[in-house]
This record gives sequence, C-alpha cells and structure tokens, in this order.
Amino acid sequence: MAYDNAIRSNWLAEQVIPELGKAFPFVAPLTRGNLLVTVGFPSSGARGRSEKIRPAELNRQWTGNEGEKDGMLSIHPIYFDRPRNVLAASLFGLAKHISARWGPSRVGLEKNGADIIATPEVEAKLAEIVALIPEPPSGYGVPFPVRQVSRGRLRRYTASGNCSNGEPHPVIRSASDTLNVTCQCGAAYILG
Ligand SMILES: [Zn+2]
Repeated sequence: MAYDNAIRSNWLAEQVIPELGKAFPFVAPLTRGNLLVTVGFPSSGARGRSEKIRPAELNRQWTGNEGEKDGMLSIHPIYFDRPRNVLAASLFGLAKHISARWGPSRVGLEKNGADIIATPEVEAKLAEIVALIPEPPSGYGVPFPVRQVSRGRLRRYTASGNCSNGEPHPVIRSASDTLNVTCQCGAAYILG
C-alpha cells in the first residue's frame, strides 16, 4: 500500500479547509486558494514531550509564491490517526492566523498533552464535517481504512546503445503496452 503525501495534501486543501471555512467564519479568508496545505513536521515543536508538540504550523515565509500568499499550513503527521484529529489540528493551525499565541484558545481549542480538546460547540461542528467529507487517505500511525485505487502499471521501454551525445538512451516508462517511439538519433525503443 502506497502512502502518498500529495493525496493527503489534496484532501486537506480540497475537502477539509473549505468545509472548515464554512463552519468557522474566521477561516473563510484563508479558503480562497492562496493557502498551501501540507502534512509535515512544524519547524519547531515537532518531537519531544507531547505537551511540546505543535499540532500545526502556519508559516508565512513564502507568501511571495503563487498559491501561498496566505501562508503554508503544515499539519503534524501524528494527528493523522483519525479524521477528527486532522480537522482539529488544521483548525488549531488556522487559528494562529488570528493570533500566533492565543488564536487556538480564542476559537475554542486547547491542547492537553498531545490531545486537542475542543469546546462542545466546536466538537459538534467538527463531527458534522467528518460526517460530510469523503474518507481521508491513509495516515501515518494507525492507517485509516483505505479504498482500493487501481494504479496503472507502467511499462518500461529501452533503446539499445548510446545516443549521438554518447550517453546511454534513457529509459521511458509509459502506461501504454504498444508505445511506438524512436529516438531522434533513429534508435527504436522496445518494450523490456
Ligand atoms: Zn538516441
């Protein structure tokens, strides 16, 4: 089973963040496609005692980048044990947009050890979103149930000998079983 971090980031960006934006007005300004969402350790508070661990980081180093003008939200992988925790960690990080220090408590979240405790109102909204959004991709610690996705098997095509630049011909991988391609030097690529 492949763990693909890009699939996880897409799930966060396309499913989780927009729904958080609808449920929590303070998140809405960050749902216009200018927030890069990813799964990764924060630059500090990544390891160590659980009370030191940061659920998420809202980083604004790269706001000059297209699609990152509102910042980069990085969700700590340990919160990928169940959907509720991913949502709580995301919200925790997004709240830092209000105040790096007090944002999470102002929106009804606090940390107890590594756990993110939500007020009953926030917990209810998180539960609604969990029920609404599609199943997340598999996680790090305890994997979520994973839907079987058929991945195309790539065929390997090679051309023998060196090319006109003296370098060996590169291998070409293609989903096609009947790729018919010739190098510009005239060498034919064959399956295998
Ligand atoms: Zn060639």
